[in-house]
Amino acid sequence: MQFDTLGLSPRLITALNDQGITDPTPIQTQAIPHAMAGRDVMGLAQTGSGKTAAFGLPMLDALMKNGRKAEPKTPRALILAPTRELARQIHDTLSAFAQGSHLKLALITGGVGFTPQIERMSRGVAILVATPGRLVDLLDRRAVDLSKTEFLVLDEADQMLDLGFIHSLRRIAGLLPKQRQTMLFSATMPKLMEEIAGAFLTDPVRVQVNPPGQAVAKIDQWLHYVAKGAKTDLLIELLDKHRDELAIVFGRTKHGSDKLARQLEAAGYAVAAIHGNKSQGQRDRAIAAFREGEVRVLVATDVAARGLDIPGIRHVYNYDLPNVPENYVHRIGRTARAGADGTAVALCSPDEMGELRDIEKAMKAKIPVASGAPWEGVSEPAARPGANRGGKPRQGQGQGRPAGQGRPGGPSAGQQPSRRPAQVGAPGGKPAGQKPRRPAAAPRRRTTAA
Ligand code: AMP
Repeated sequence: MQFDTLGLSPRLITALNDQGITDPTPIQTQAIPHAMAGRDVMGLAQTGSGKTAAFGLPMLDALMKNGRKAEPKTPRALILAPTRELARQIHDTLSAFAQGSHLKLALITGGVGFTPQIERMSRGVAILVATPGRLVDLLDRRAVDLSKTEFLVLDEADQMLDLGFIHSLRRIAGLLPKQRQTMLFSATMPKLMEEIAGAFLTDPVRVQVNPPGQAVAKIDQWLHYVAKGAKTDLLIELLDKHRDELAIVFGRTKHGSDKLARQLEAAGYAVAAIHGNKSQGQRDRAIAAFREGEVRVLVATDVAARGLDIPGIRHVYNYDLPNVPENYVHRIGRTARAGADGTAVALCSPDEMGELRDIEKAMKAKIPVASGAPWEGVSEPAARPGANRGGKPRQGQGQGRPAGQGRPGGPSAGQQPSRRPAQVGAPGGKPAGQKPRRPAAAPRRRTTAA
């Protein structure tokens, strides 16, 4: 299947070919014909599946065919994305496709001043890519008028809900004409999403390339059971195996990510950290340096879990497990982009057993164990730093082979004896004379904007 059989204009096909894109991905093959026919589309697709082009190409095609001039403040197409990074990426991808056409794009996100954005809108924009919060601010200032918007795209809609954008979305959708084409893309389909889809879409065609929540098959996933205090040492050991390759490390908190970045820097890595406390300029510079390979390790909170499309990322480390299980899939989707290989390694401490169970339930799959064994009957205080790490799982523990046998995620496994102290329980086994205890599960919180 080639793009010209999907009915796209020759101009767009040339733009695609210029970027070396010749064959549509499965989500593009499924979504583009329906979108070209004017249908609403609800796409269940993972990160890296090519969904930006799946919604972007039909929209550009329609806008190019109808050469109406962009009027001040009134975009003809609106694309909403949860994070600044994703919005920028969509903007840049579509700008490349639209190059040489009359279509003008604008990017409206938080973290930068209002005045240039207000001026930009007043000059006339055909396609507006925005994060919901800043768009609402501009609507309040009457800098944007959505009454003539013909296309609405909600990208990574599930993360927009996670980040609490539901009220903004409802408000924005209420300002658009009822007569419009809407496309919604989401990696997962929580219950609230069905409700949103019902409210925003009209008789949508559903397209799906992978069951929701299932990780990209090409990603080599491994799990280490490791005490909290031993995580940094293990991470450095794993990073040392691929010093020249790009790695992204996910932490849960802004403070923790900064601290980890400093520790990695002290270990000799070129590191940058991105999270919600960094200014937009700092975030952009860090991502640019990472993309160029000047920075090898990017430490990030979930604000970067989606959207980042850097083909060179070979390794994803879940230093802290996400407490929203779906975010695991989004995080590891930062690697193995566009057909490349990648590994995703998760570090699980005793207090994260609940998160791990939720992740494996959401994926409907177990992550293979590279070292250590499940923290059953152990709470974190009993797990001394280094207690459960690096060792080859004992007979009958875990399901993994030692990494010495070629496991990318477990280089130290098999190379040193288990240093598990007696009080650390093996799976199913409990230390003599000790009552089994459930691991101290971290309190459940929803992730908010990092
Ligand atoms: P997305 O899921 O939209 O973030 O796209 C992921 C990556 O796949 C981006 O780097 C795109 O440039 C790339 N891509 C999108 N469509 C295709 C295609 N048909 N063939 C090859 N690469 C593609």
